[in-house]
Amino acid sequence: MNDGVSLHCKFCLFGPPASGKGTVGAFLKEHFNCEIITPGDIYRRLREEDSELGQTVRDHLKDGGYCPDELTNRIILEEATRLNGKNFILDGFPRTIAQYDFLNENMVVDCFICFDAPYEMLLTASMNRIQCAGCGKVWSKLMNEDDCCSCVPKNWKHRFDDSAEMYPKRYAVYEQLTQPIVDIVLGLTNSITLQSLNNPNVISEALERINALGI
Ligand SMILES: [Zn+2]
Repeated sequence: MNDGVSLHCKFCLFGPPASGKGTVGAFLKEHFNCEIITPGDIYRRLREEDSELGQTVRDHLKDGGYCPDELTNRIILEEATRLNGKNFILDGFPRTIAQYDFLNENMVVDCFICFDAPYEMLLTASMNRIQCAGCGKVWSKLMNEDDCCSCVPKNWKHRFDDSAEMYPKRYAVYEQLTQPIVDIVLGLTNSITLQSLNNPNVISEALERINALGI
């Protein structure tokens, strides 16, 4: 077990799939000079691997479920330790109470940010979500694709788990396993809530709320 002192999580982001965590996370990363740790991206990468670990990840993710807590905890701890004391953002961890306990045992968190949106809006966002294969930036088919990034030409990818079939399953898993953590975190003095989808002011609102906490 780590002593917890050197692993400093600046922001811990919560929200159902496609709630706009990534967009705000990318801004906070630049603004506060942090690294960002996204287990979802790590797992999407691992599932492409022709290895035992890759197969394990494929088996767990195929029905919209989560990977086992022990595996996720180990991967997150390795990623965070590798940063050698640099501040980081967690996007998509913890997702279960067991992971939340692990977080509290191993890391210090400055601020929890919870994202929220109505279900229909989340589903629409998921259906229209695209990602630039060049730089990894997540974008929406509903926005001007030229504004996404400077990659030429763009090679749009649609994430395997953004489908009409998968989204309801992923949302149900979130409600069952992750929402209980959000309920705990919202009772802490260092948490804020934001509505990111269809909100052009989300960045300024985020900074205002973060500043108000003295972070
Ligand atoms: Zn790009």
